[in-house]
Amino acid sequence: METTLNARSSLADWLALRETLAIETRLFIDGAYRESANGQRFDCISPIDSRKLCEVAYAGAADVDAAVAAARRAFDTGVWADRNPRERKAVLLRFAAALRAHQDELALLETLDAGKPIADTTTVDIPGAAYCLEWFAEAIDKTGGEVAAADHHLLGLVTREPVGVVSAIVPWNFPLLMAAWKFAPALAAGNSVVLKPSEKSPLSAVRVAQLAHEAGIPAGVFNVVPGDGETGKRLALHQDVDCVAFTGSTGVGKQIMQYAAQSNLKRVWLELGGKSPNIVLPDCADLDRAARTAASAIFYNMGEMCTAGSRLLVHRSIRERFMAKLLEAARAWQPGNPLDPATTMGAIIDRAQQERVLALIGSGRVEATLLTGGKTAREETGGFYIEPTIFETTPASRIAREEIFGPVLAVMTFDTLDEAIRMANDSEYGLAAAVWTADLATAHDVSRRLRAGTVWVNCYDEGGDMNFPFGGYRQSGNGRDKSLHALEKYTELKSTLLRLR
Ligand code: NAD
Repeated sequence: METTLNARSSLADWLALRETLAIETRLFIDGAYRESANGQRFDCISPIDSRKLCEVAYAGAADVDAAVAAARRAFDTGVWADRNPRERKAVLLRFAAALRAHQDELALLETLDAGKPIADTTTVDIPGAAYCLEWFAEAIDKTGGEVAAADHHLLGLVTREPVGVVSAIVPWNFPLLMAAWKFAPALAAGNSVVLKPSEKSPLSAVRVAQLAHEAGIPAGVFNVVPGDGETGKRLALHQDVDCVAFTGSTGVGKQIMQYAAQSNLKRVWLELGGKSPNIVLPDCADLDRAARTAASAIFYNMGEMCTAGSRLLVHRSIRERFMAKLLEAARAWQPGNPLDPATTMGAIIDRAQQERVLALIGSGRVEATLLTGGKTAREETGGFYIEPTIFETTPASRIAREEIFGPVLAVMTFDTLDEAIRMANDSEYGLAAAVWTADLATAHDVSRRLRAGTVWVNCYDEGGDMNFPFGGYRQSGNGRDKSLHALEKYTELKSTLLRLR
C-alpha cells in the first residue's frame, strides 16, 4: 500500500484510504512475522462502529517464551547492545523516519482500532512516537558515565549498561505513543524489547515491528506479542525478562509487582492511573482561557487520559462566572465520526469501558448534580460514544475519587488556598495537577505543596517536548518516562574500580 503521501484532509480521503488498508495481524518474533504457535487469534473490534476489523494472532505461552528467547539471544550476542551508540542512533533515526513516512497509514490504524479522532492521531500519536524515537536516538551518543571521587591509588568509573531483556506492557489510550515512550529509550540504551500492546489496540504495534526491522534493528531486538492480561502476566512472571516497563491501571500495576516478586525480582517500572486536580484561584488572570483549558483537560481523547484534569477545584467567589464559561467551552467537545478531521471527540475504546463510565455517571446522578451530558451518543453508528459530562459534587463522592477514564468532570468549590491544596492532595494518586493564578509566588508555593509528578501553572497538558520527566507520586506509579531520566529505567549502574598502584 502506498502510504508515503501524508496529505489527507477530508473524511472522504480517510474513507478511501480505509478501503485500501491491508492490516498486518501476526506476531513479530526474531525478525519475522509468524502465527501464534497454537494458531489462536482474537477479534479486533473498531469502537467507531463495533465492526470487526480483523483477527489478531494471540501470543500464548510458547510465543512468549519464543519472543523472550529471541530477545535474550540478540542481547547476549551483542548485535545491538555492543554497537557504538552512534550506530544505534542512526538506526533509530531511520525507524523514526519510517513512522513519519507511514504516518497516514499508522494514524488510520490507530483511529480505527482505538476510536481516537484522526485529527489527533495525525498530529499527536504518530508524530509524537517518531519524535520520541528521534529524541532518544539523538541523546544516546551524548550521554556518558562519571569518574567518581576516590583515593589517589584508585580510578573509579561509574557507567550505565543496558539491563537486558525489557518487556513493555502498554495500554490502549495512546497505543503507539505509550509504547514508544518505553521502547525508544530501552532500544537506545541497547536493550532487547518484547512489546505487548493492549488486546484492545494491538494494530499499530504489530505494524511498526516491520518498520523497525527495515530500519535495521537486528532480529530478536524488537519483538511484538499481542495478547491480553494472561500474555502480560506471562511476561511479568518470566524468569528471563530483566525489566517490565508497564503503563496501565493501578490494580494491574500492583499485580505486576507481585509477579516480579514471585519470579526473578525483575525491575518493575509503573506508570499508572490518576485523578488530577485543576485548581482555579480567584486571581486567575484569564478565566476564559482557564475554562477552555479545563474543558480540554478532561474531554481531550474522550477523557481516556492518565493525566485527565478530572477534578476541577474552583474558588467560591468566581464559581458562577467560571461555570458559565466552562459549560460554554464544553460545547466545543461533541462526539463525531473519528475519521472526520473536524471531529474533536471520538469513541470510547469498547463497550465494557463505555458501560464502566456510564455506571460511574449513574453514581454521579445519585451523589452529585449533573450540569451537562451524561448520555451515550451516536448510537445509530453501533459505536461507543459518550457526551462530555460535567457534575458539581463534593470530595467524598465516587466520581470525585475514582479514576473514570472517560469524559466526566467532577467540579468542586473551595474557600481558602489551604483547603484547595488539602482537597487536591486528598487522593491515592499523584500523577499531575494544575493551578491558575496571576501571582508568581503563589504559583511556586502551590506547586511545591502539590503531591504530583507534573504541575502545570496557567496551562494544562503542555510540555509535548520529551525534555520533561513524566510519571507519578503515590499510586500513580514509580520511575519516569520521557527525558534523560527514562534511561535510568533501562540501565544498570556499574562501579568499576581500578587500582593504579
Ligand atoms: P490495564 O491495566 O487494564 O492494561 C494495561 C496493559 O496491561 C494491557 O496491555 C493489558 O493487556 C495488560 N494486563 C492486564 N492484566 C494484566 C496482568 N494481570 N498482568 C500483566 N499485564 C496485564 O489498563 P488499560 O485499561 O489498558 O489502560 C488504562 C489505564 O492506564 C488507566 O488507569 C490509565 O490511567 C493508565 N495510564 C497511565 C499512563 C501513565 O503514564 N501514568 C498513561 C496512559 C494510561
